[in-house]
Amino acid sequence: IAGPILALTSRAVFATDANKVDPESAQAKALSYTHKSPKTESNCANCLLYSSGADAPWGPCGIFPGKQVAGAGWCSAWVKRPG
Ligand code: SF4
Repeated sequence: IAGPILALTSRAVFATDANKVDPESAQAKALSYTHKSPKTESNCANCLLYSSGADAPWGPCGIFPGKQVAGAGWCSAWVKRPG
């Protein structure tokens, strides 16, 4: 019984697969977006366009309206968040 309840709760709180950016989509490919940053110092969590907290695993990004990007992700539009 705990499993299904946990799954429902998680779905409400965290990004669902349906609203995560698909790295295979044309826009993601155009920007070389990946859920796992190839850079050591830059990722979505420290990008200016990431609108979740730096420690949030998934969050919205202005480049991908209505979608969630991975905090650990990266794309070529990365801009350093000041501070
Ligand atoms: Fe991540 Fe790129 Fe969005 Fe920055 S612009 S949060 S690097 S997807």
